[in-house]
Amino acid sequence: MMISTAVLGAFARLPYPPPEIGGLIGGTDDEITEVFVDEGGESARPNRYRPKTCLLNSVIRHWSTAGIEFRGVFHTHFAFGYEMSDEDRQYANTIMAAMPPRIGSLLFPVVVPGHAVSSYLMTRERGQQHLKLDSFHMFEEWRR
Ligand SMILES: [Zn+2]
Repeated sequence: MMISTAVLGAFARLPYPPPEIGGLIGGTDDEITEVFVDEGGESARPNRYRPKTCLLNSVIRHWSTAGIEFRGVFHTHFAFGYEMSDEDRQYANTIMAAMPPRIGSLLFPVVVPGHAVSSYLMTRERGQQHLKLDSFHMFEEWRR
């Protein structure tokens, strides 16, 4: 799945604090064109961004009136933490399982602000969900 240059730019400019932040991404089946940054994640624990369900639902509703599909959830990690944790994977499974059947895939980018983004794609087929690394972008490659 493509991530638009504008969204990659928004990822690159995210602050680099503890705690983790994250948010929602949207667009079409082929391209991520929208990002909603949620600075106040549900959990105060570092390394664990979870959007509130009510926030998730309200953004999805708002986007759908504008013809934008909900396409996934991103969150930040600290330096060189490009991989999804076991908790991240469990969470991605839970989100996917809650989606209506017409949504066959979601993207879960892990952003290390200022460094890179690794995007994991969750797909499902006949009730089975699969998660794999879909793309890896170094921010240096296109930032200017
Ligand atoms: Zn994580």
